Amino acid sequence: MIRLGDVEIRRIEELMVLEPTATFAGWQPHVAQEQPWLIPNYYDAAADAFVTSIASWLVKTPEHTILIDTGSGNHKDRPLSPRFHQLDTPWLDRLKAAGAAPQDIDLVLLTHLHVDHVGWNTVRAGDRWVPTFPNATYVMSRIEREWRDPKLTTATRPAAADLPFLDSVLPVIDAGQVKLVEGNETVADGIDLMPTPGHAPGQMAIRIRSRGEEALFIADVMHQPIQIYYPDWNSKYCEDQALAPVARRRVLDYCADAGCLMLPAHFGPPFCGRVTRNGDRFAFVPSEHAP
Ligand SMILES: [Zn+2]
Repeated sequence: MIRLGDVEIRRIEELMVLEPTATFAGWQPHVAQEQPWLIPNYYDAAADAFVTSIASWLVKTPEHTILIDTGSGNHKDRPLSPRFHQLDTPWLDRLKAAGAAPQDIDLVLLTHLHVDHVGWNTVRAGDRWVPTFPNATYVMSRIEREWRDPKLTTATRPAAADLPFLDSVLPVIDAGQVKLVEGNETVADGIDLMPTPGHAPGQMAIRIRSRGEEALFIADVMHQPIQIYYPDWNSKYCEDQALAPVARRRVLDYCADAGCLMLPAHFGPPFCGRVTRNGDRFAFVPSEHAP
């Protein structure tokens, strides 16, 4: 657990996976030699792959019990994403062990609506998908919602790409539990949103401030800490390859200036840290504690 003023931050792990280095077009083997700190927490040299965390953040404030992103979920058909297909993980037990039952969650903040960020929005009940968190308002980007909804989108994609929206987003919309946002609002006292479009069209970062301390949950603005050193490297999962580096540089500038704790969605342990400036480049200082 990391304490930030009156706020407690815990990481609820779903999966740890290895991501091939080919996810970054810019990757060169010599980078691992130049950045030895990547090994072993962020880069598995034997496997030549990046250590990747799939997790949610549980944030307890004096007023709210909040989940930031909801992983991949159990028992979902994901023919386009084998690593998330028909999972059966104890994520919900881990959430309870961290002190939050599903009915305790009153806000679910979704940074964007990719497959590995919305899955635990719903659980199976017979032949239906129902909200996992019956008392929560699910906050999501209007732009994301419209982009993912096969009835509203202008995108063309295979039908299977719509499954995460249909089984994990639409049911919470139908349940009347969704609040759509533009991505720049204050959502609660000390909690506001920052638009970071690029990786996903409506992606947003979530800023939490308490007693002079600040944390920024940056979602997939970066997948790996090597991108702090090479901000123009996109992953193959970034939907807008031109816009993603713009958001990345803006977030890096912000974190370096604010000195805030930066919590990305997918970094290896300790899963978060701070950004400093090193001349005209950025550097990463991993957190001393894992949340
Ligand atoms: Zn992701």
